[in-house]
Amino acid sequence: MPSFPAHAVAPVFDEAGYRMNPDVGRSVDVAVDLPIANESKAAMPNAARTDRAVPSTRTEATLAARLAAAFAESLIGTIVFDAKGRPVAMNAAFERLWGATLADVPTAYSILEDTQLKRAGMLDDIHRVFDGESVRLSPLQYDMQAAMGCGQGRSTQAHLYPVRGFSGDVEHVVVMHFDVALHPSRESAPDRIVGQAARLQTLSDALSTASTMNQVADAVVMHAPAVFGAAGTVIAQLTGDGRYLEIVRAGAMPEDVEEAWRRFPVSSPVPMADVARSGEALFLESREDWVARYPQLLPVLERTGQHANAVMPLVVDGRVLGVLGAAFGAPNVFDDEDRAVARAVALQCAQALERARLFEAEREAREEAEAANRAKAQFLAVMSHELRTPLNAIGGYAELIEMGIRGPVTPEQCEDLRRIRVSQRHLLGLINEVLNYAKVETGAVHYDLSDVNVRDALRAAEALVAPQAHAKAIPLTVGDCPRELAVRADTEKLRQILVNLLGNAIKFSTRDGRIDLAWEASGEYVRIHVSDAGIGIPPHKLGAIFEPFVQVRSDLTRTADGVGLGLAISRDLARAMGGDITVESSPGTGSRFTLLLPAAKS
Ligand code: ADP
Repeated sequence: MPSFPAHAVAPVFDEAGYRMNPDVGRSVDVAVDLPIANESKAAMPNAARTDRAVPSTRTEATLAARLAAAFAESLIGTIVFDAKGRPVAMNAAFERLWGATLADVPTAYSILEDTQLKRAGMLDDIHRVFDGESVRLSPLQYDMQAAMGCGQGRSTQAHLYPVRGFSGDVEHVVVMHFDVALHPSRESAPDRIVGQAARLQTLSDALSTASTMNQVADAVVMHAPAVFGAAGTVIAQLTGDGRYLEIVRAGAMPEDVEEAWRRFPVSSPVPMADVARSGEALFLESREDWVARYPQLLPVLERTGQHANAVMPLVVDGRVLGVLGAAFGAPNVFDDEDRAVARAVALQCAQALERARLFEAEREAREEAEAANRAKAQFLAVMSHELRTPLNAIGGYAELIEMGIRGPVTPEQCEDLRRIRVSQRHLLGLINEVLNYAKVETGAVHYDLSDVNVRDALRAAEALVAPQAHAKAIPLTVGDCPRELAVRADTEKLRQILVNLLGNAIKFSTRDGRIDLAWEASGEYVRIHVSDAGIGIPPHKLGAIFEPFVQVRSDLTRTADGVGLGLAISRDLARAMGGDITVESSPGTGSRFTLLLPAAKS
């Protein structure tokens, strides 16, 4: 008889309703606590339940012997682990079920680190048992050979119970294995429908939050077996050229089998490939079904302990993306309802996979576009920099000649030189703007944030654009601003934005126009409005004007200067400081640009 801790096995029979003898009563767990003093027993809930006399040592011995016999002779394969997850006892039914004995278990083995259970996503549940909860695991196909180097694959459902010692700590964990090949689901029909709806919902919830291929695969492998009542599921996808099937994830498939079938031609005479080619679901209800269609695969079945399988195509818009397979450790009749559920699961799974594929494609495209944008900005930065040097030289030499340093200059030559210098300055201004944009885009701009007085900022910007406004005889008014109003910003960048907005307002105003610079403080933000009564912007262009190099009317702006970068730069700067720029406008009436910035905290 294997040695085992009597008090560990007792609750097994208690919980499962398997009692050796009605005389034993409910509280086998009190039986072995004879040396414990009365007050410490009172602290133990289990012990406190005992209203009978404390059993004598003889009773205890009898009880232990009976329990030992029950454990040894029980038809339920049972194994007991110590607190570190190492097996300390197994009964004959367990040995028969798995074809392994306690001596076969490698000394380093711990159920808390079991790789197959880990891959099936069950380790968290198992840890919960070691923390004191009872747990019933989903059916699982387990390969004892792979784990212990002996024994066989089986599909079982395990019930796990913690057993606390007198200190209250979990000292042992008892695991009872129900062979799902011998014990098909005991759920009644209504229970089954309700249970299946709940399990389907769990799967749907998991799929709806999965946004990558791996997350979809994890959700399927973790939750689909419970929906089907299967031992495990496998999900495979067709390669881009449609010639191979690749396993994305396999739950509870022996590692070597999974490795051997990781990628196989879609022309292979196997169920998954047949389903991928035909686009039709395939249900194999027993090994006889398998032998009739795929006799060459019998050894694989025996190796994995499978009896029945459901294989569904994953189809989106009439395109087969891959297949979903469910493996059963016992023969299984798939009635119409089972088949409908299987198809529903496959449909959800296919849609989730497609969604994940689109997400991934979109993310890749965005990353590529961002990389291209960065490359473009870098190119612009280098080019502008290179252009500035010769342009400065042109300006410098023109000035030298104009000043007569190189010899006498005629008045006509002087006028030509002046024009050269105006064009040179204009070109330099444009290039500086491009360089500025490139710097902002490549993130090379440094922001020196401080509390900036709004009144000072408005006045400084006004002073800078006043000559331009004056030249066009456009009145520019600045709203009264309380002394203490401040925003959190970089002074230079704020001035740059205001000058750009005011410059545009002047540029796009007609002679009888007017410009207002106003402010508004609300909550955590301050808004600065730049309003004009100029030409306005058509509604369909309102979004585009913030894009680089966009100008609404290039004929007008050509004469009015600019390359269409001012707003793109300004908005980037504003956003980098935690604000934004928005616009309202109507053609012929005017525009109002609003700069939003965080208010200073103090
Ligand atoms: P730029 O002024 O150099 O062309 P911006 O990025 O500053 O570039 O502006 C982009 C375009 O938005 C301008 O070309 C013009 O068509 C439009 N726009 C900007 N501000 C105004 C405004 N106040 N009134 C009318 N249109 C404007």
